[in-house]
Amino acid sequence: MLQRVEMMRNISRTHVLIILTLLLTILGATYIYSGDAISSFRFCEPCEDNPQLPLTDAMKDLKVKDCLENGAWRIGDLKMQTGLHYAQPSTQKGRTDVNSVTNWNAPLVWDGTFDPVVTDAIYKKMDPRVAVVVFAVGKYTRFLKGFLESGKKYFLVGFRVTYYIFTDNEQEVPKVELGSGQKISIITIPSAKRWQEVVLGRMKWATITIDKQIRNEADYLFMMDIDSVFYNPVGGESLSQLSAVLHRGYYKNTNRDAFPYERRPLSEAYIPAGEGDYYYTAAVWGGYLEEMYKLVKYCYMKSEEDKKNGIEAVWQEESHLNKYLLYNKPTKVLSPEYLWSDYDAVPADIRVKRISQLIKDYKEVRPNGGH
Ligand code: UDP
Repeated sequence: MLQRVEMMRNISRTHVLIILTLLLTILGATYIYSGDAISSFRFCEPCEDNPQLPLTDAMKDLKVKDCLENGAWRIGDLKMQTGLHYAQPSTQKGRTDVNSVTNWNAPLVWDGTFDPVVTDAIYKKMDPRVAVVVFAVGKYTRFLKGFLESGKKYFLVGFRVTYYIFTDNEQEVPKVELGSGQKISIITIPSAKRWQEVVLGRMKWATITIDKQIRNEADYLFMMDIDSVFYNPVGGESLSQLSAVLHRGYYKNTNRDAFPYERRPLSEAYIPAGEGDYYYTAAVWGGYLEEMYKLVKYCYMKSEEDKKNGIEAVWQEESHLNKYLLYNKPTKVLSPEYLWSDYDAVPADIRVKRISQLIKDYKEVRPNGGH
């Protein structure tokens, strides 16, 4: 009897050992196999070939590592090809009429502070996919033609740009023939009774659509107002992890307490007196897709919280944007060249008007009129 028990014990031990060995072999093989599959990734090609490719975070990290080892690029790299001809940069000469660096050491971009031959070469080398999110709700569809036609001529020419047009009236989206690499994608959204609803609603619709669609199609994303046109080139120099534009109305303001920040503590956008760097416009802002997603979603969530508390920030999403950028500094600050206004004369320090807001009849164009 005892012998049989001992035999049984030995048999089950052997079984356990065999099963364990088998399991370890299967696990090992899976690891080696997936390791091979991962290490064959190169950063851009597979994403573009197969945008649906489900990548885990670990895989993404490996891809980046693989990239660096192979000398391939990734978003944010500042690589340049050999043999490019351009003027030698100087350590002594530059713009002296304006400041071209922030106090957190980020570039403050003005004409003359960069060489477009160099910046375009660097950023084109990455061949990023750029998404431009614009809203044309109600009568604002009339601005699409001018925006797209001028964008074709001046906005990131030679880059892959997709204009995501959010509209309640697809029929009124003009057929503009764009340049090579430039595309249009239309997203239908509901109409609105108040312009404030459209302006704030942009944060909600952009969040939803980045999640559902744009994330798989873009590396950089810009949010822009549609009632604007491009008058001059906007190129690679505008690209960065997070780029914000100085509001033309306040860029010379030396008293931060006069910025039109939200001053009511009840709002999530509240900034107390004595704080603040600059006042940024919400009519043009851009950056890496994920950075922009975070920020757009932040503005959406914060305005929802405000709504629950029965308050709307003084300048809607612009107020939340300014609060965010005060505590999460942008990596590039673009001068008001990147959003001027046809209402205002152009001062000497704005040597190039690149993008400008059009003159419009607010009462006529907005669903609820008003300014
Ligand atoms: N917008 C729209 N329909 C509206 C109101 C606003 O499509 O009825 C969009 C449009 O993209 C516009 C942006 O929201 O450029 C900002 O609104 P608006 O230009 O009226 O604001 P402003 O910058 O003049 O204060």
